Amino acid sequence: MENQSTILGHPKGLFILFFTELWERFSFYGMRAILVLYLTAETTDKFNPGLGWTSKEALALYGWYGMFVYFTGIFGGAIADRWLGQKKSVLLGGIFIIAGQFALAVNALPSFYTGLFLLVCGVGLLKPNISTMVGGLYKKGDERRDAGFTIFYIGINIGAVLAPLIVGYYGEMVDWHLGFSLAGFGMILGQIVYVFGRKTLSGVGELLQDSEENRNLMAQPLTKIEKDRILVMFIAFLIVMVFWAAYEQAGGLMNLYARDKIDRVVFGYEIPTSFFQSLHALYVVILGAPMAYFWTKWRKAGKESSSLYKMGVGSIIMSIGFVALMAAAYEVSESALNKAPVYWLFLSYFLHVVAELSLSPVALSFITKLAPMKYASLMMGTYFAITGLGNKAAGLLGEAAQDAGEMAIFTGITVFSLLLGILILLFVNRLKALTHGAEEITN
Ligand code: GLN
Repeated sequence: MENQSTILGHPKGLFILFFTELWERFSFYGMRAILVLYLTAETTDKFNPGLGWTSKEALALYGWYGMFVYFTGIFGGAIADRWLGQKKSVLLGGIFIIAGQFALAVNALPSFYTGLFLLVCGVGLLKPNISTMVGGLYKKGDERRDAGFTIFYIGINIGAVLAPLIVGYYGEMVDWHLGFSLAGFGMILGQIVYVFGRKTLSGVGELLQDSEENRNLMAQPLTKIEKDRILVMFIAFLIVMVFWAAYEQAGGLMNLYARDKIDRVVFGYEIPTSFFQSLHALYVVILGAPMAYFWTKWRKAGKESSSLYKMGVGSIIMSIGFVALMAAAYEVSESALNKAPVYWLFLSYFLHVVAELSLSPVALSFITKLAPMKYASLMMGTYFAITGLGNKAAGLLGEAAQDAGEMAIFTGITVFSLLLGILILLFVNRLKALTHGAEEITN
């Protein structure tokens, strides 16, 4: 079988999914980087006119978009399980995304809203299903699965580093609509990779054949084991939601914080605020491989390395990342200039990413190990819907900080993530029992 041949010890299909998702994320993050800027640019601007919205209106749309674009993953997952299979859903999602980006590229309000709608549908179809397909490349018990997800996650973040630089630059400096078109071209490249590489994905992401046997399988009620596994997945979702609510401060509150309250001058050069929008992704690209290596060594040394354990550790590290922000907020309050040194931001984002890598690719892999076959895509879609709620919560926390002050919000997040992480670690054995050996490695 073609999908038996490997690159870097992983199935070839992983690299097709890697590049497809890299370009999809390029398109996603590129568009996201200029959305608020486009909305708030003056309509009368001679050089590059926007829609002239207020910041508040723009941020509200940004928050709702961030939620819906992931929330529709539930529908994307359900459609894949019932009708299309993951493979075709990804293809269709990609077509919607291309159409959506080019609709944004047309300078007319109805076309703008149509574009957003198409993007929300497209990402909902593509994002969860391509993630489930990564899991489909590995058999049950294959020890390479977690590392495969980390590689995939690095691809995501290469797209996320490049996008603000390219789409952001041409969108802001030349023409917003050119920016959206470039995001559309990114997705076209992704589709080309996917279509030409499909041979490496044979047998992955197909809908179960419509046979008597499979119909019976689908009609079976869930077993006790499957129900336990779903329960433990929902506990993992809780950690994930708190995590993203903290992490996604980066695009909103922390963006303004970096602009107004951080002294960004290093060796006489002022780091632009927008650079910090790429910093997380850049850290993922740098730290992804060493972190995967660390966890593999850790497991081989016979230490506790279940997904839930890693996620609990991730939650605690996130909390420490917010301690660094508390330190910054303290320095702001103490300094005459009302500013804190930039190293707090570098340190805190570094810790956020160490936490992210202990948690996010691990959660994706975990779901592909635990979800009952007939709900494989739906569970992944639900996971992304939860991250969408986390995004929305991040926006609300950012708004709350306007009244309560940053220190209160940073402290709240620190305490909450810490407690959650500790709780998970305390109960890790009981939670593991609920997985009924789904994480056992057999090779
Ligand atoms: N940053 C990751 C991505 O874009 C994770 C996003 C999420 O889980 N909501 O894929």
